[in-house]
Amino acid sequence: MAVFRAMFSRTFSAATSPSLRVCVVGSGPAGFYTAEKMLKAHEEAEVDVIDRLPTPFGLVRSGVAPDHPETKIVINQFSRVAHNERCSFFGNVSLGSSVSLSELRQIYHVVVLAYGAESDRVLGIPGEDLSGVHSAREFVWWYNGHPDLSQLAPDLKNTDTAIVLGQGNVALDVARILLRPPSELATTDIASHALAALKESSIRKVYLVGRRGPVQAACTAKELREILAIKDLYVNIKQDDLQITSADEEEMKNSRIRRRVYDLLSKASSSGQTHPSSGQPELHFTFFRKPDKFLESSDKSGHVAGVKFEKTTLKASAGSGNQIAAGTGQYEDLKCGLVLKSIGYKSIPVDGLPFDHSKGVVPNIRGRVVSSYDVGQPVDGLYVCGWLKRGPTGIIATNLYDADETVASISEDIKKKDPASEFASGREGLLQLLENRKINVVTFSDWEKIDFEEKRLGSLIGKPREKLTNWKDLLAK
Ligand code: NAP
Repeated sequence: MAVFRAMFSRTFSAATSPSLRVCVVGSGPAGFYTAEKMLKAHEEAEVDVIDRLPTPFGLVRSGVAPDHPETKIVINQFSRVAHNERCSFFGNVSLGSSVSLSELRQIYHVVVLAYGAESDRVLGIPGEDLSGVHSAREFVWWYNGHPDLSQLAPDLKNTDTAIVLGQGNVALDVARILLRPPSELATTDIASHALAALKESSIRKVYLVGRRGPVQAACTAKELREILAIKDLYVNIKQDDLQITSADEEEMKNSRIRRRVYDLLSKASSSGQTHPSSGQPELHFTFFRKPDKFLESSDKSGHVAGVKFEKTTLKASAGSGNQIAAGTGQYEDLKCGLVLKSIGYKSIPVDGLPFDHSKGVVPNIRGRVVSSYDVGQPVDGLYVCGWLKRGPTGIIATNLYDADETVASISEDIKKKDPASEFASGREGLLQLLENRKINVVTFSDWEKIDFEEKRLGSLIGKPREKLTNWKDLLAK
């Protein structure tokens, strides 16, 4: 196999043969920051980054909105890491099916799991599986051309109303993509199938629904400002919802972000226009509503026609100091033809990995995987970073600090026990195993061919890139 021979000779041509063999699982921000910091901290280390996708960069490619190109610039930094002669990228290698966790732990001295959160929290209420109800992640993967969901085809044509559940930054992303004039997206790297569907979309009205109040809306000010600035947008926020209590004041005193978000919402609610004009895009911020059930359409069986909400009020929660939503027993229905649940991502465990199902993370102490928090005994050579470590929160740069912490733990452990004393076949071992299993490994130079082709296709139509969106094209390299 070409990959095996090329990589094998590259390993032996290195000035010093590596005595620390490291595998990072996941090539998103957490994975690449970890690789970068490991390479810097340990000159003796060889770091292999594997990813189940044929393309690197995880959330930067599949999660960041197409109209946020500045956020994607970090790809240049990650590419420089991948070009380090002690680093390799192997795509189309899936932890669990191509190679098991126990195999990786035998092959490498150190394994760092940084594969993020590729699933969704669920509400667990009736009607969640109706057609027209999607998670925001699915919708994001669809418009970003993720090969697993390029076929999603959400129906944007047969309704003028979408409900987005949740008020975090992902909720704002999906609402903005639905409401922004498609002409403004045409020069981004949005997947062409999504751009075509958005051009034909009849959705004009988006409800962003939070179970708590405007002080607790989970978004940040910059992202809120951006959506409020959509051209010709009618924004509706009920004055009553903006009434605040002393507990709200206390929350805002403790958080500048909460204060700024609340101030922006207040300003937007009093900006003048009382009714939308015909055809105008509408954004409704709806507060104090928790989803109770999804309503089925009477004329289109199996399809969503709305959401039944229970009105809520805030009450103090013991311990956290935050206010939580409590049902009032009063209900209200909102009609729609599309629902995007934006209530948070969820990590998926693999065989042999300790997992805290209530928090959706791998139990760890400063990045050292532990079998359980109670016992606190680290699992030898196994570490975690990113959303799998701390849950699905934070911006890309948060992973920088997170990787710092995990790499510091690795370094401390290595000082106590020299890994060179134990044989690990590392890169050669992995590639041999993948060759035996006939896995079609995508190297970084294969990715660069994909990258070149995407940019070439994009340049023909005025886009930075035209993404290849299916597995067959991506693996054809
Ligand atoms: P998030 O910020 O945690 O927001 C989740 C939202 O879902 C909250 O409004 C939450 O309300 C609501 N929610 C959770 N469970 C619910 C339930 N059972 N019923 C009703 N509502 C529920 O998560 P996210 O929006 O997925 O974002 C993930 C992370 O990525 C965040 O840190 C975000 O800032 C970041 N991100 C950043 C950008 C950017 O910088 N441009 C873009 C996208 C994402 P409660 O507050 O009441 O729980």
